[in-house]
Amino acid sequence: MGNKYVYFYGDGKADGNASMKELLGGKGANLAEMSSLGIPVPPGFTITTEVCTYYYQHNKTLPSELEKEVEEALHKVEKIMRSKFGDVNNPLLFSVRSGARSSMPGMMETVLNIGLTTKTVKGLIALTKNERFAYDAYRRLITMYSDVVMEKAAGIGSEEGKGIREQLEHELEKMKQVRGVTLDTELSAEDLKELVEIYKAKVKEVLGKPFPDDPKEQLWGGIKAVFQSWNGKRAISYRRIENIPDDWGTAVNVQTMVFGNMGDDSATGVAFTRNPATGEDIFYGEWLPNAQGEDVVAGLRTPNPINKVGKTEDTMHLPSLEEAMPELYKQLDEIQKKLEHHYTDMQDIEFTIQKGHLWMLQTRVGKRNGPAAVRMAVEMCKLGLINKKEALSRVKPTQLDELLHPMLNPEAEKKANELAKGLPAGPGGANGMIVFTADDAEAWAKQGKTVILVRNETSPEDVHGMHAAAAILTAKGGMTSHAALVARGWGKCCIVGCSALQIDVSKRELSVNGRLIKEGDWISLNGTRGRVYEGKLELVEPDLERNEYYKKLMTWADEVRELGIRTNADRPEDAAQARAFGAEGIGLCRTEHMFFDPERILAMREMIVAETKQDRRKAVMKLLPYQKKDFYGILKAMEGLPVTIRLLDPPLHEFVNLDDKQIKELSSQFGISVEKLKARVESLHELNPMLGHRGCRLGIAYPEITEMQARAIFEAAAELTKEGVKVYPEVMVPLTGIYTEFNNQKAIIDRVAEEVMKEMKVTFKYLVGTMIEIPRACVTANEIAQTAEFFSFGTNDLTQTTFGFSRDDIGGFLPYYLEHNILPNDPFQTLDQNGVGQVVEMGVQRGRSVRPGLKIGICGEHGGDPDSIDFCHRTGLNYVSCSPFRVPIARLAAAHAAIKNGPQKM
Ligand code: PEP
Ligand code: MG
Repeated sequence: MGNKYVYFYGDGKADGNASMKELLGGKGANLAEMSSLGIPVPPGFTITTEVCTYYYQHNKTLPSELEKEVEEALHKVEKIMRSKFGDVNNPLLFSVRSGARSSMPGMMETVLNIGLTTKTVKGLIALTKNERFAYDAYRRLITMYSDVVMEKAAGIGSEEGKGIREQLEHELEKMKQVRGVTLDTELSAEDLKELVEIYKAKVKEVLGKPFPDDPKEQLWGGIKAVFQSWNGKRAISYRRIENIPDDWGTAVNVQTMVFGNMGDDSATGVAFTRNPATGEDIFYGEWLPNAQGEDVVAGLRTPNPINKVGKTEDTMHLPSLEEAMPELYKQLDEIQKKLEHHYTDMQDIEFTIQKGHLWMLQTRVGKRNGPAAVRMAVEMCKLGLINKKEALSRVKPTQLDELLHPMLNPEAEKKANELAKGLPAGPGGANGMIVFTADDAEAWAKQGKTVILVRNETSPEDVHGMHAAAAILTAKGGMTSHAALVARGWGKCCIVGCSALQIDVSKRELSVNGRLIKEGDWISLNGTRGRVYEGKLELVEPDLERNEYYKKLMTWADEVRELGIRTNADRPEDAAQARAFGAEGIGLCRTEHMFFDPERILAMREMIVAETKQDRRKAVMKLLPYQKKDFYGILKAMEGLPVTIRLLDPPLHEFVNLDDKQIKELSSQFGISVEKLKARVESLHELNPMLGHRGCRLGIAYPEITEMQARAIFEAAAELTKEGVKVYPEVMVPLTGIYTEFNNQKAIIDRVAEEVMKEMKVTFKYLVGTMIEIPRACVTANEIAQTAEFFSFGTNDLTQTTFGFSRDDIGGFLPYYLEHNILPNDPFQTLDQNGVGQVVEMGVQRGRSVRPGLKIGICGEHGGDPDSIDFCHRTGLNYVSCSPFRVPIARLAAAHAAIKNGPQKM
């Protein structure tokens, strides 16, 4: 027997289950699971993702066995529902929806009400005794089907605003105008019946083909259109952003239609088992009476809160489901509890109430923002639903970023001019210049501008612009609109349903409460409260110290992780910030950053242009008091923790980037002729400075620089020791490639240490080690480790020197490399484990072969990248070092690495 392509579910039974997401997609797998759990699910069947793959591998055709399997499943559904697909008297209708392995909200197509024809619509009327409802369903089918199947899937392009869907919607508006009504619901059965005929004529006129009047043709058209939408523009663009592989494919779910728009005893809604914006443990959602699911999600009507606890100041007056249909609410509440308990995670559910009967249409793990993820993980662990390790795994390291995100300054907010209120879909604060289209958002952001994307309702076609924008603001839509879901997934500040906005995209302006705001004007959003303000309000950093959930999660991370976490910091303030975030030392203090101060750069320049050793020494020693003060501050801020200080690294010409005027000024200051000064500066010019006279090569040629820096470090350490402050300086030699280079520098450093201890009559511990940034250093690590007391991998330079890619010039070709899959990602952001990683491994093994237990860290940018941190754990490094704001991310990533890989092998 060949593959099974169709999986049935319904009536307490199912062919599949929740573990089969690869084959059935997330939605299909969960429908099967729910059905087996005895939860009321409209019966249906799932066509596997393998069929999607087949479809694309076989010139967009379907496997021959599929038809028979679909027929069989269809009969099973007909038996349960006691009705028949295409039956004139008792018609069964289907929805056809996509369902990928990982959720891609709104990125692919859906067709509802499949099976309605000129004949079956009569049966539906007889059955429901509701002509209005039946024609409304029919016109919705024509709209969706002509758009999704006959236009998009057929590859018929249309100008923005001229697609068949827009043209049909225009007809609907026309009809409402003629009848003098504003709401769709005010149109009569006769109106809708007439509209169906108008729609059919329009479809034929625009697309050159009649709307199919055969249920089977509709069904297969819908199935193929869903497969086709896997390679639609917005699905592809979403996959790029979310790193979803192209070859996963989507499943297709064919499910019995149930109707939430059959009258006042019908309803539909979307809910979360906990609040996805805050993580609070309350059942949270939205519903609409007498509506279809898309009405809630598409944001055409602003939905009601599902229960009393979910009401806010702004929704207080709206009826909750709890109040309107208490019995059904109770049943729904029990189901949501059962689902969360069963899946042990927050669920995002969809339901429909058809004539007083509750049906569950979907459950899936709900998207949440960072603060909510942290709170849920900690609270679920405390409830005993999950253990600590699982709780840690529930939070993505990058989600912590959102806890570190800014908010509007509350004082500035009090005084600001409030333009409008909306729904708080994505918390945090943002300011930016208004743009009105996704393309503009992307283009402006590329120019380095901060933008806020303002739309009526953000359709999934806007994802690229939403991604580029600092925040998103929409006039329509609810907390569960696609826009809100997508923004929340990214932890972006977002306000939806801000109905006071009147947007005119063509004029690129909006009016709100009597004010006119144009493209490029600044506004500010408080996404936590749903408030929009005029102008650019100040943003303030959040106070992590007050977040109990965060603190708890981080203590668990610290219990589990084995890697140490240090920070790259050059200033005492940064060091203190990093320490507050949990840094356990400094892994890299780049001393050159201290030289750009106007006072100091003068001495630096004097040293550089000095002609004799004595002059140079004199100039260098002018820097000693400054450096000593710097190191004193940093060592003190990190009291009790190790501080790795790197000796001067960049090529000297970086300090003498001078124009003619500056050269003139300097020549008189230093008493050297302009010509001589120019000649000296020119002599420093290098064709390839990154591979030139930099790193330890400087300290070797100009030992007085090393001597001054070593003295500054040790004098600061000596003073602090005398003051009773515990210090652990680690002096680091940059860019070693040959052990003799290292030994040359170490001799100077050790000598100065001895001198200072003698002079100041105090002793303290210190280490001398090296950066490992050159492949030769890895290959000969056994030689270098004879004398080096620690290694720190400078993976920025090591990536540069291993690939032979200039770290400053990769921008010229990297975009092409990424787009054409020559590289999977930027190797300067995430470590190239297969190439650079092997060089690192060699360095680790050879270094420890002569010095077992050699302390090894990493201080390149990769030290804050979760995948690279996983590699560091596996490779047996002692610590990673990253910028202060990435310290929490690194702590969690290190915990994940320990959970995933088990104990480190040293
Ligand atoms: C490195 O090369 O990885 C490093 C940390 O040093 P820098 O970025 O200062 O060259
Ligand atoms: Mg470097």
